[in-house]
Amino acid sequence: KLLVDRYLKGEKLGEGTYGIVFKAIDTKTENTVAIKKILIGKDSKEGVNFTALREIKLLKELKDPNIIELIDCFPHKKNLHLVFEFMETDLEAVIKDKTIRLTPADIKSYVQMMLKGLAFCHKKWVLHRDMKPNNLLIGADGQLKLADFGLARMFGSPGRNFTHQVFARWYRAPELLFGSKQYGSGVDIWAAGCIFAELLNRKPFLQGSSDIDQIGKIFASLGTPKSSQWPDMVYLPDYVEYQYVAPTPLRTLFPSASDDALDLLSKMFAYDPKARITAQQALEHRYFSTLPAPTIPSQLPRPR
Ligand code: ADP
Repeated sequence: KLLVDRYLKGEKLGEGTYGIVFKAIDTKTENTVAIKKILIGKDSKEGVNFTALREIKLLKELKDPNIIELIDCFPHKKNLHLVFEFMETDLEAVIKDKTIRLTPADIKSYVQMMLKGLAFCHKKWVLHRDMKPNNLLIGADGQLKLADFGLARMFGSPGRNFTHQVFARWYRAPELLFGSKQYGSGVDIWAAGCIFAELLNRKPFLQGSSDIDQIGKIFASLGTPKSSQWPDMVYLPDYVEYQYVAPTPLRTLFPSASDDALDLLSKMFAYDPKARITAQQALEHRYFSTLPAPTIPSQLPRPR
């Protein structure tokens, strides 16, 4: 079946928040693509339209080697179709494939690509807001690309409110868990820190079973924040006082990591979002300039 005289529809790849994703061949370029079908029929909620339109506008402006490319978009029947470059796998599959051994150089390569994508978005005043391993897609060439900007929004207008229930809980920053409505790019850095941690230990770092439990898990590992560490914490809408817990040294939590890796990680896990390292600063951290050099993407191990 040929869509808009161009795309040869193939198998279903999966189902996402907004609709079905299927594989197709772009007959114009002969490339394999992934088409995300979003229902925009009358019966769908108004919000979906806006979300979809926002996703398109954002993605069209975001072109970077570490961001998934939106090739085309078109309406067909009652659906909006978004055409993306096809990606072989994602970081979740890599982490879960226990036949894969990730070297320190491999981990450095993934973390660097993730931060490059984030630095690019943040420079354009776009938050990802839904960073998690299955939103980090990996191409046939081994490049990691940030995907699923379905929840991303422009930020920068001061005082603007956001809904805070957007993150996959395990990757959610403490300011979100405390109900902050004026959060910034720091939420993506916290999530990236959780993904870095997950690459090191090959299991999700902070697996809370509810939002309250998530805060508990964060504090149990990293210690309760002192008000001197995060002065604005007490003003957050859902702030509650916690009984003091001493931080566990990151060295104990991540025995396999280098000192440089742990230093960067500690800066990504700064409690105060204002004190948290930015993506650009993280890329300039000595972790990336000291040996081992990050693995070349084409030489990264891949699941099969
Ligand atoms: P969600 O909204 O749950 O994050 P998506 O709508 O982004 O999920 O995608 C649903 C599924 O479609 C994914 O789990 C993945 O298997 C597949 N998929 C999405 N985008 C691509 C792509 N660019 N290339 C290949 N597969 C993709």
